[in-house]
Amino acid sequence: MLYIGPHVSIAKDISLAPERAKETKATTFALFLKNQKIWTAPEIKDESATAFKKKVKELGYRLDRILPHAGYLINMASPSPETREKSLTLLKDEIRRAKKIGLSRLNIHPGAYIEGERVDGIKRSAMMLDEALEDVDDFIIALENTAGSGSNLGSRLEELEEIISLSKNKDKIGITLDTCHLYAAGYDVRNEASKILDNAVKTFGRDKIKGMHLNDSKEELGRKKDRHESLGKGRIGLEAFKEIVVHKAADDCPLILETIDESLWKSEVEVLSKVYHEYIG
Ligand SMILES: [Zn+2]
Ligand SMILES: [Zn+2]
Repeated sequence: MLYIGPHVSIAKDISLAPERAKETKATTFALFLKNQKIWTAPEIKDESATAFKKKVKELGYRLDRILPHAGYLINMASPSPETREKSLTLLKDEIRRAKKIGLSRLNIHPGAYIEGERVDGIKRSAMMLDEALEDVDDFIIALENTAGSGSNLGSRLEELEEIISLSKNKDKIGITLDTCHLYAAGYDVRNEASKILDNAVKTFGRDKIKGMHLNDSKEELGRKKDRHESLGKGRIGLEAFKEIVVHKAADDCPLILETIDESLWKSEVEVLSKVYHEYIG
């Protein structure tokens, strides 16, 4: 089954998100669970959570295929005790919010080590995942690969693998593959999409790929710059995305558009859905 759709706004109320996705003919979607740029936000109201779940069901979405994105302030790899404490509190809050509206996955960036050795950052990231997941059941955190600027972890897929291997909660951790970030980090998604996905399947196992972010890239290969573009309008090109949607790694996996022009979401969903349905016949 093809699960594809945009990252939609939760403005006014989180329960409005499913309807916003439906306007694009999406079969799934992503969202933030609160304002992504602040540390604390009001709790999701019981009525909003109930309304969200009701809408999801009404519109034919599956709660377990929706891929919420954690806030940007969390840094799981930070060396600062103060930032770590705040990050852990926020991460636990994000998990609670996801569960409150019936979701079972959360996408997050692995963090930046800021200073010192990369390997210490990797350890700290794994440690925070363990702290956050300790008492949490039936939940998966999906570590997203990154563009690799500065001291951000996760621009090499091996680094995501290392973080997972150091965690005591391997069964609760998966990955999200962002095509723009892959391209920025030097993976040639334009010419080698299938090969990159084959390798990811080989490294992590197919069922560990919990989501993909389908974004074209404004920047050239390997520039370490995270600048999303609409599908087919950037350096990666539409053919690569057509290749991705029919790859076995994409089957049953939430494919999320974080592309820059909302007015094109519907046609982006349409083009790729058509490719998928022609392929499966
Ligand atoms: Zn992304
Ligand atoms: Zn990005």
